[in-house]
Amino acid sequence: MKKTSVYIETFGCQMNVADTERASTGLRRAGYELTGEAEEADVVLLNTCSIRARAEAKVYSRVGEVKHKGRRSGQLIGVMGCVAQLEGEAVFDHAPSVGLVAGTQATDRLPALIERARAGEKKVLDLGEREAGEIWEVSPVERHSPYVAFVPIIEGCNKFCSYCIVPFSRGRERSRPAAEVIDEVKRLKDAGFSEVHLLGQNVNSYRPRPPVGLENFDGATPFSKLLRAVAATGMERIKFTTSFPRDFHHDIVAAIDENPNLCNWVHLPAQSGNDRVLRQMRRGHKVADYLERIRTIKNARRRIALTSDMIVGFPGETAEEVMDTVSLVEQCQYDSLYIFKYSPRARTPAAAMSDTISEEEKTERFERVEEAQKRIQKTLYSSYLGEVVNVLVERRSTRSELDLMGHSTCHKIVNFRGSDALIGRTVDVRITEVKSNSLYGEAAQSLLKAFC
Ligand code: SF4
Repeated sequence: MKKTSVYIETFGCQMNVADTERASTGLRRAGYELTGEAEEADVVLLNTCSIRARAEAKVYSRVGEVKHKGRRSGQLIGVMGCVAQLEGEAVFDHAPSVGLVAGTQATDRLPALIERARAGEKKVLDLGEREAGEIWEVSPVERHSPYVAFVPIIEGCNKFCSYCIVPFSRGRERSRPAAEVIDEVKRLKDAGFSEVHLLGQNVNSYRPRPPVGLENFDGATPFSKLLRAVAATGMERIKFTTSFPRDFHHDIVAAIDENPNLCNWVHLPAQSGNDRVLRQMRRGHKVADYLERIRTIKNARRRIALTSDMIVGFPGETAEEVMDTVSLVEQCQYDSLYIFKYSPRARTPAAAMSDTISEEEKTERFERVEEAQKRIQKTLYSSYLGEVVNVLVERRSTRSELDLMGHSTCHKIVNFRGSDALIGRTVDVRITEVKSNSLYGEAAQSLLKAFC
């Protein structure tokens, strides 16, 4: 009998990519076939993002497109992920062609939900919580890359920053048992993966109960113990994201110092450089606290690349206050920065704040911060000229057939000439040229001789 085919399209962050991998694992185990063609699939699932209003609107227009182009009669369209969790039943009203709505914690129940929909139930809805004993681990064939694996260690968020929808879309913090994380990383290493990304909305808020698996590791916090435990698996490269400033203990930097396989990159979102705005954002940290953590990172033994997020145009932010953000950007000297124009999200406290800023003004503020970052980034990237960085080669570059592309341990995009035989390997590359968001270089001669 022909298997039911499922196509999953993913929007948004790495957590959504990890959820898609997990959903695919469960569906394949239940006898479904995964396909890369939406038009031909029996079931199309859109794994959605709601972090910004635009991302949410995109989902509904994509539902319309899928409905229009679908060649299968009786094709089931499902919405999963953050929009599903937040909108629930309302998704069916917005998009009547949707037959299934599965929230962020319903990933493992998708096979049963699809069966119900295909058996004739009109509006299948599941916004329930994860069930005890559910398996987080995904099978190697469902991974987005054969070399880099995402390993979620904590889901949800308890911080309730006043502008953010995540605590509503992903629920409260739930930490994954340490022993399970460590075992997964060991298996990934045995399966030939070279790099893992420990994932979570706030990885350094990691607090497993009970903390089984970390007894033999030193550390001031459960997360810094976990870092040491994961480093001890011998996995070649370990990255982690995202970190929350208030929970960023200096012991994380000590762990990076001690373990060469903990990569030299920290993503630490600041969001604003002004204390009044930070208070309104309910971030739970002040500029001085943030800068103290930055000093620790900059004083590490290895050069640690630093990236961050900033929001401009938060309700009530003044023109002077945005200059404090520019000043923070200058003090921190970020390797790269994601700048966002504030967009109100329903249900969040900030959405009820009346003092809003025009789109035009937000754009101007965006450009002011961006201009500072571009200047800093140019100097900072130039400082890599002549340096050797270690690169995990992921694929051929999309810009030039001659170039290979990969990420350095400091999470920069690096391009260099080389043969396909180097794909999947880690290579030392001497940087010879810099562009605004990437580095170019030459692989060590010995490697080129061996593999070209
Ligand atoms: S820490 Fe704040 S910004 Fe980050 S996910 Fe939680 S609520 Fe959202």
